[in-house]
Amino acid sequence: MDPKELFSTNLIDGKIVASHIERQCSPLPSVIVIGAGISGLAAARSLYDASFEVTILESRDRLGGRINTDYSFGCPVDMGASWLHGVCNENPLAPLIRGLGLTLYRTSGDDSILYDHDLESCMLFNTDGHQVPQQIVMDVGETFKRILEETGKVRDEDPDDMSVQQAISVVLNSHPELKQQGLSHEVLQWYICRMEAWFAADADMISLKTWDQEHVLSGGHGLMVEGYDPVIKALAKNLDIRLNHRHACIIYRMT
Ligand SMILES: Cc1cc2nc3c(=O)[nH]c(=O)nc-3n(C[C@H](O)[C@H](O)[C@H](O)COP(=O)(O)OP(=O)(O)OC[C@H]3O[C@@H](n4cnc5c(N)ncnc54)[C@H](O)[C@@H]3O)c2cc1C
Repeated sequence: MDPKELFSTNLIDGKIVASHIERQCSPLPSVIVIGAGISGLAAARSLYDASFEVTILESRDRLGGRINTDYSFGCPVDMGASWLHGVCNENPLAPLIRGLGLTLYRTSGDDSILYDHDLESCMLFNTDGHQVPQQIVMDVGETFKRILEETGKVRDEDPDDMSVQQAISVVLNSHPELKQQGLSHEVLQWYICRMEAWFAADADMISLKTWDQEHVLSGGHGLMVEGYDPVIKALAKNLDIRLNHRHACIIYRMT
């Protein structure tokens, strides 16, 4: 299906459609979108469908950003996003995925065959290859929860944003009893790494103000069986995308 059809019926809001009608008589306005991740592609798609002349500048040599489906094993393996979180109509990706006829494998029911990442079934090993006692993993997990709760208070007290790493340092300085030593310290670092893995960013790049502000949609989780690549391809179809183009600065002019 032509992605133009999907987006013109589902994702373009009234404002853009109205501007499309107004602008039909005037020269085509042009827009540069920076980044060909899914946000940039979706924005560019909507603008293109509303008759804007769009160019996307992407610094890498591929599309998708943190969505990257690898086919080198002969089957799709998503190296970044793999799930549709919230299989419901409220999710703006759902109509696009449905329109493309892509299969979702539900991993949020009892029939899921995927391993779970709950802490009870999680085994950690130290650098000598010895398993870290499960009790230590659980206890440090509780401490990490407390540290994060305390970072919430730091956030409430300070109007300026800071990184999660900075906030953890503030908490550990004011609550030395939460500091960990030896193996427990290493396990605490693992918890921080786990958080970094979730955001694909170092803790000194994660915003204290927004890290826990996501809104979880209903409908459970669906794994993209064919990978996310078809979604990226559909959004990118016919767009003018310049790969290996890293933008260095934006100059604002008031006219
Ligand atoms: C391992 C992993 C697993 C994930 N799993 C899921 C999941 O299952 N489900 C889910 O919904 N989400 C998941 N996410 C999150 C999801 O991938 C991201 O939220 C989403 O892909 C972000 O898209 P974006 O377009 O906003 O940013 P990005 O994908 O980061 O795109 C930004 C683009 O801008 C380009 N760029 C940056 N600077 C410049 C510049 N100066 N000039 C030109 N181009 C530039 C970058 O190269 C990149 O292509 C996961 C992320 C990771 C890393």
